[in-house]
Amino acid sequence: MGDATNSVASVFRPSPALSKVGPSAITRMTAATAELKRQGRQIASMHLGEPDFGTPGNIVEAAIRAMRAGDTHYTALDGTPEVKSAVQEKFSRENGIYFENDQIVVTSGAKMVLFSAFFATLNLGDEVILPAPYWVSYGDIVEMMGARAVVLPTDAQDGFKLRAEDLERAITPNTRWLLINSPSNPSGAIYRRSEYEPILDVIERHPHVWLMVDDMYEHIIFQDEPFVTPAQLRPDLQGRILTINGVSKAYAMTGWRIGYAGGPAPLMKAIKAVLSQSTSCPCSIAQAASAEALRGPQDSVRRYLGEYRVRRDLVITELSHCPDLKATEPDGTFYAFVDWRALFGKLTPRGETLSDDEDLCQYLLHDCGVSIVPGSAFGTPGFFRISFASSEAELRLGIARIREGCAALI
Ligand code: PMP
Repeated sequence: MGDATNSVASVFRPSPALSKVGPSAITRMTAATAELKRQGRQIASMHLGEPDFGTPGNIVEAAIRAMRAGDTHYTALDGTPEVKSAVQEKFSRENGIYFENDQIVVTSGAKMVLFSAFFATLNLGDEVILPAPYWVSYGDIVEMMGARAVVLPTDAQDGFKLRAEDLERAITPNTRWLLINSPSNPSGAIYRRSEYEPILDVIERHPHVWLMVDDMYEHIIFQDEPFVTPAQLRPDLQGRILTINGVSKAYAMTGWRIGYAGGPAPLMKAIKAVLSQSTSCPCSIAQAASAEALRGPQDSVRRYLGEYRVRRDLVITELSHCPDLKATEPDGTFYAFVDWRALFGKLTPRGETLSDDEDLCQYLLHDCGVSIVPGSAFGTPGFFRISFASSEAELRLGIARIREGCAALI
């Protein structure tokens, strides 16, 4: 009996789809931080991209009402008519884009839009262009589909924004998608109208290339210029643009798992085929809550933004006291992407060489008690990401530790 169990265990073979995908650097950092805290260490957590605010009361109440009203069953696989029309209104009110009902999907988190859109469109050998730094999951999802993530590094001097000529050079007959995330996790970069225009001209010239835009941080912007998104700038290209968004960051609703997207109907139909055989539908209660988030009062969004601005200023000011770190002020999101290349090759007080940013993050976590994410996780070694979605006290403590940790290097 024992032998039989062992032999079953020993023949477990994961799918080849997982061969290139391991736990993300953020997941590993979360596990390591939790383990140190369990051992009694006090760690300043700056690695998680999660608002520390509670979900606004009106949204929670809408969920409770939905449960009491018996909205506790399967819904249409792409969202209830109520939440879909709230999404439709949001796109038209805030972005000036009109989507028909069959051009919208509501999913279990925006990550599920990305996953199902890639699943629905990618073939072995297809290419997806990812300007780096990029959000950790993009590359892994693409690789899971047997496609190739073509990483296009961008320059800190260009504000980490893609240049049209670099895009032009990277396009091949196998290119299926360009994926742009603005405001960007991790760099905080925001594409302005004038920066999008040349990129959209390149897309126009290559009809086999589609554009996926991830607008998840749309509401967390510090610049005065209004937010713009490609489908609004170029309605003539709408037939090959997928616009992704969600409630996780704007309304502090990460655990409710609702994302949404607007795009051309044939693509949405293919996405729905994936959803019907995976999630069946997003959570009915969270959909009711999200309809309220999108339609109800927006004052909490403004309040959070005010808080993030204070925290951003705090983080940038505090980091400016670390002479070997270079942090540019992010235009949006709640992340700072910090250049630590001046410290490369230095020795820790324990005599360990900092050879890459994984080494730096391990040193800062274990020796200094602060958790951050290495830039290599975002395709940009030599940097690290700080999240300022945590409290001011935690941020002050974390940056003080980073400063001391950097000063102790030899
Ligand atoms: N896009 C970006 C850029 C993100 O940072 C995240 C969450 N960290 C997501 C998408 C996924 O969001 P959701 O919680 O809706 O799956």
